Amino acid sequence: MTSSVTINKSHIVVAQNASGRNMNVPVYRLTGQQPGPTVYIQSSIHGSEVQGNVVIYQLMQYLKQLQIAGEIILVPNCNPVGTNIKAGEYTLGRFDPVNGTNWNRGYYYDPDRLDEFYHTVQDTDCTATIKAKFRQFWRVAITEKLESAWGLGLAQQLNLKLQLLALDADIVLDLHNGPVSTRHIYIPQYAAKSAGLFNIPHVIFIPNHFAGALDEATFCPWWTLQEKLSAARGTNIDLGVEAMTLEMGSQEVIAFEEGKQDAQSILAYLGQRGVINQCPFEPAVMQRVGVHLSQYKTLFTQWGGMVEYMAKPGQRVAKGQPLARVLNIDELDNEQATFTIYAPCDMIPILHFPSASVLSGTQLYKVFTEYFDITGT
Ligand SMILES: [Zn+2]
Repeated sequence: MTSSVTINKSHIVVAQNASGRNMNVPVYRLTGQQPGPTVYIQSSIHGSEVQGNVVIYQLMQYLKQLQIAGEIILVPNCNPVGTNIKAGEYTLGRFDPVNGTNWNRGYYYDPDRLDEFYHTVQDTDCTATIKAKFRQFWRVAITEKLESAWGLGLAQQLNLKLQLLALDADIVLDLHNGPVSTRHIYIPQYAAKSAGLFNIPHVIFIPNHFAGALDEATFCPWWTLQEKLSAARGTNIDLGVEAMTLEMGSQEVIAFEEGKQDAQSILAYLGQRGVINQCPFEPAVMQRVGVHLSQYKTLFTQWGGMVEYMAKPGQRVAKGQPLARVLNIDELDNEQATFTIYAPCDMIPILHFPSASVLSGTQLYKVFTEYFDITGT
C-alpha cells in the first residue's frame, strides 16, 4: 500500500520571551487525497508532560505509510514556555510560575455567546451548514477575545491561539501525563461509546461542565448545541465532534516503545472514526473500567513527612488496605515515627504525587471509586 499523505510544516508564534524573541510551535498538517474528518492532536500543554511528543512522533511514522481521509493537525510541545521552566532536576510545567495560572485553564467558552448563535440557526439548516456557521461565529468570538484592548495573560493567549488551530477539528485529542500515573482518558459522557476504541484501561466520563481545559472548551459548545437542536427538532442531532484528554503515563518520562503502543491506540480509534482507510490497527480486546468524574476522588495527606507510596497506579485496593506509609523524623524515638494511610473505600489509584517528601495538605493520590466495568460496551 503506497501512501499519499502530504505533510506541510509551518510555525505559529505563541509567545515572546523577555529578549523580545518569538517563541514558535511547529504545526504539522498531514493531508490525505480523500475528504474526511479533521483531527487535531497537541501535546505538552503542561511542560513536564512530555510523552505525548513521542506519541506524535510515532504517529507520524505510521501515518506516512497509511491512507488518510481528511486532515490530521499535529502540534507537539505546544507550550514552549512551560517545557523550559526548570527548577533543579525538575520541570515546573503545570503552572505559569509568574502568577500560578494552570496552562490548561484559559481556553474559551461562553454559554451566552453560544445561545446567541443558537438563535441564528434556521429550521432548514442542515448539520454541515450549522457546523460551518458555528465555526465561523466561534472563530470571531475567540479572535475578539485575543485582540482585547486590555490584553490577556500568557497562558490564556497561548490557549486561545491553540484553540483557533483546533477549531475546525471534528476530533480533538489533548495529550497529557499524570505525575506518577497509569494510562487513563477523559471522555465526555455523550461520546461514551468511544471509550472502547482506545487501548486505555481507565476511563473518566465527564459531564457538560466547563472548567477551562481544551477538551471541555471543544465539546461543551458542540454538546450544548446538539442538545438544544435535538430538543427543538424532536430528533437526535449528532454534530459529530469529540474531544478527549489522554493521560499517557507519568510526567518527566519519554518511552519510545510505549509511545508506539499509544500511537497504535490512537490509530485504532481514528480508523473506527473513518480517518484512516484500511487501518491496520483495531481497538484491543481488553478490560476497561469507567468512573464518573464526581467519583474520581483526591486523597490528601493530613500530615507532612516522608512517604512510601505502597499502592501502585492501576492496582485495585480494597477498603482498609494500606495506601501509603509516612515517616515523621521528629518522632523517631517513639511509636509515632511512622503511620499508615488506609484506603477509605474500595478504589483504583490512578496517579500519585511524584515526590517522597510532602507537606500536609498534599494531594497524595487520585483514585477511581464507585467504578464500573465497561468491557464490551
Ligand atoms: Zn496535564
